[in-house]
Amino acid sequence: MSRAPLSLRPRWRRAAGLALLSACVAAPLSAQGRITSPKEFFGFAIGDDYRLATYTQFVDYWKKIDAESDRMIVEEIGKTAEGRPQLMAIVTSPENHRNLAKYKNIAQRLAKGELTDAEARQLAAEGKAVVWIDGGLHATEVLGAHQLMETNYRLISSNDPEVLRFLNDCIILMVHANPDGMELVSNWYMRTPEEAKRSTGGIPRLYQKYIGHDNNRDFYMGAQNETINIMRQQYHEWFPHIVYNHHQTGPAGAVLFAPPFRAPHNHNFDPLVIYGIDLVGTSMHTRFALENKPGAVRRDQAGYQTWWNGGLRTAVYFHNMVGLLTETIGNPTPIDIPFTPEKLIPQENYVFPITPQKWHFRQSIEYSVTANYAVLDVASRHREQFLYNIYKMGRNAIEKGSKDTWTDYPRRIAAVQEQIRKDRAQQQEGNARLAAMGGFGGTAPTQYFASLRTPELRDPRGFIMPSDQTDFPTTTKFVNALRKAGVTVQRATRAFNVGGKAYPAGSYVVKTAQAFRAHVMDMFEPQDYPNDLQYPGGPPKAPYDNAGYTLAFQMGVDFDRILDGFECPCEEISGMATPPAGRVTAGSAGWLVDHSYNDAFVAVNRVMKSGGEVLWLRNATSAGGKQYPAGAWFIANRGGARGIVDRSAADLGINFDGVNARPAGDALRMKNVRVGLWDVYGGSMPSGWMRWMMEQFEFNNVKQVFAPELDAGNLASKFDVLIFADGGIPESDRPSGPGFGFGGRMPEASEIPAEFRSTLGRTTVANTVPQLRKFMEDGGTVITIGSSNALATHLDLPVANHLVERTPTGERELPRDKLFVPGSVLQAAVDVTHPLAHGMSPRTDVFFDNSPVFRLEPDAAMKGVRAIAWFDTPTPLRSGWAWGQGYLNGGVAAAEASVGKGKLFMFGPEITNRAQPHGTFKFLFNGIYYGPAVSAAQAAVIGM
Ligand SMILES: [Zn+2]
Repeated sequence: MSRAPLSLRPRWRRAAGLALLSACVAAPLSAQGRITSPKEFFGFAIGDDYRLATYTQFVDYWKKIDAESDRMIVEEIGKTAEGRPQLMAIVTSPENHRNLAKYKNIAQRLAKGELTDAEARQLAAEGKAVVWIDGGLHATEVLGAHQLMETNYRLISSNDPEVLRFLNDCIILMVHANPDGMELVSNWYMRTPEEAKRSTGGIPRLYQKYIGHDNNRDFYMGAQNETINIMRQQYHEWFPHIVYNHHQTGPAGAVLFAPPFRAPHNHNFDPLVIYGIDLVGTSMHTRFALENKPGAVRRDQAGYQTWWNGGLRTAVYFHNMVGLLTETIGNPTPIDIPFTPEKLIPQENYVFPITPQKWHFRQSIEYSVTANYAVLDVASRHREQFLYNIYKMGRNAIEKGSKDTWTDYPRRIAAVQEQIRKDRAQQQEGNARLAAMGGFGGTAPTQYFASLRTPELRDPRGFIMPSDQTDFPTTTKFVNALRKAGVTVQRATRAFNVGGKAYPAGSYVVKTAQAFRAHVMDMFEPQDYPNDLQYPGGPPKAPYDNAGYTLAFQMGVDFDRILDGFECPCEEISGMATPPAGRVTAGSAGWLVDHSYNDAFVAVNRVMKSGGEVLWLRNATSAGGKQYPAGAWFIANRGGARGIVDRSAADLGINFDGVNARPAGDALRMKNVRVGLWDVYGGSMPSGWMRWMMEQFEFNNVKQVFAPELDAGNLASKFDVLIFADGGIPESDRPSGPGFGFGGRMPEASEIPAEFRSTLGRTTVANTVPQLRKFMEDGGTVITIGSSNALATHLDLPVANHLVERTPTGERELPRDKLFVPGSVLQAAVDVTHPLAHGMSPRTDVFFDNSPVFRLEPDAAMKGVRAIAWFDTPTPLRSGWAWGQGYLNGGVAAAEASVGKGKLFMFGPEITNRAQPHGTFKFLFNGIYYGPAVSAAQAAVIGM
């Protein structure tokens, strides 16, 4: 924005109020000059067939119009994973631009809810609606970034009275959500000279460096750069009232899905969130009808829900914001709207059907602009209401967190219904049959309601994370996920007592009396997904994403739920928390480090990289008065170890206890492990998450490995460990349908740039498995997760599927109407005496997503197969939904198998799911070091 001197203040605000009178509104009333159009800049109009702009062009264009317009300023909100600047345009009237700090302050104060009602009403009257519109998050959904450019251009160049009203009432944050992806996909599409052959399909790698499409799964964790940049704007800077997240593509036979969403919605957030979505969604559908744009569906016409936290538009519900998603068809290569007969009949959630036709990208751009304008229109017309409502929701949250409150979870209601049924059957024997049928109507005596309002069922008033827990640095990472999400976290300045329990100084405290209480509850408390069946007695309906994900459980955080109001000697953490520096005590021989720290692996990796010596002690030991359970690390005091130890104590917050003699007893000698991380052409997201994690934990020697290199064999000469994420090993070599990943068919080598040819192809039972067997026989270690555990079957190991039922003719896999566990947190029993589980809790929460569960055959032990973790109760569910969970009881979740001189480590659950379950990261990290390790005594013999 070129900041115009005050004397040039434009007069169009007044003109907007006189719109009806004014034939001259179209005259240039703004102080700004002409704005360069996209067509003038790019040489094509946004939406022209066969044309896409790259992010480099996008940046240049925004810089240019930023200088031309007094309605727009462009800010860099941070760097992307690949180091590009991530841009946000703030679009509003020139007058609002002059008062931007004031409006931002109003938005912040209202969102935090710490005002009187009168103050809130005053600020709501004064403030502006903050509306977030993004684009480009999923880069192959090319409509997103392009509609963003077009909408922005129209908003800053038009003098239409309606646009001027939007600019007067709203501050519009226009955010590019994935710059790296736009650069990759646009170049990919445009590289084909022949227009008709251009395709966004088949891109060679993930469009976010590490996680691709999962970049919309990171919004409570805040792992990736782009997520952090966005969360900062949403939860620390602007607190938008409406967040509109653009996606592609729409349901068959329609143009787009627009809110409202289907049930169920999450039990934690404020009802005003749902009504806000209804209001804005209705505005969108209404405008499509007004502009004679048919083809918009809503609610159950697509799978999108408000249940799950963690998406760009869903995390905002837990922050009292109206989150929107549209999924719109469209591609620069023209497409067809197919004939879908049943879609032509108007119905409740598809009121205005579209007929089959050829469809051009430009039409999708126009639909997107309509949708954006509908959002801005309702934000403008209901400006005060949106501002007041975000305050009211924050206030409601603070009040709920300040008194006794109960949440009526589905499982509690089910329990009370069961009790009512039993009591009635007993009391009214004559009517038992009717009672069993639930034939008494839906009402019950209020004494049963009282059973839902007992003190022990209250929602927590706060959560305390003691600073003396075993892996406090990981707890600090959890606290920082909360901080990124704008949660207020306190730290105790001295020791204190709550409810008769003593907590040391440095403990973290999160109170629920805060505006973002819903997010706090969602991160600490179990999600209780209702039994959502297709029809009574029918099979379960899949949730849109995970059903349960409680981050404190996934990260293995030790915390107490405090049900009464309490005080603590605390200070609020501003910015990010850092763990207190660890202690280093003197030791001439070296230092011991507790295996329960995840970050001990960072220290070990640093020492290994420097050529130092690390032992993994197999037995319990002690040093400096501290008892170490089996698994402690010993870092020898030689070379540069001292410096690494000092630095690691400071930045990681872990303790190093000096010892003056090398520990006696059985130990493993660590070696600099060469890790091959399976990946695939187009990119595997679970593999990408692991690649990112291994960088964070400073593993030194990790290389992506693709099918051609695996199939070429001789793997032991290159790798010590091979890791296969979910999807890495097929069940069979039968073709599994046309698609792979999100990109379409596997291309021919001649179709792609030379640099990606070595990544083409897939692992197969025929060609890859024999090489993996040879690798293990030669002493290698293979780690398989999720579906990649098919490897055990291919190797004829004595491991079978536990999730089966007996039939007269044998057994069959349990059907979905009997067992269905979509993404949820379960608890497993863990053999922590086994090195693979050293440092873990004997009862560990695992992330489970319809994952494999193993049954070890009777001869398993004899053949070197051993269970490491298993489900030992009929109710392993901790958070989410586990339909038929009793079937898991007795099943094995993790196992070790000997194959020749090598090892196979099998993990059914998603132990690294989206880099969230820090509580199970050790399974992977232990596996990486344990597999190739040799005993220290043996190492001495072979001169290692
Ligand atoms: Zn998408």
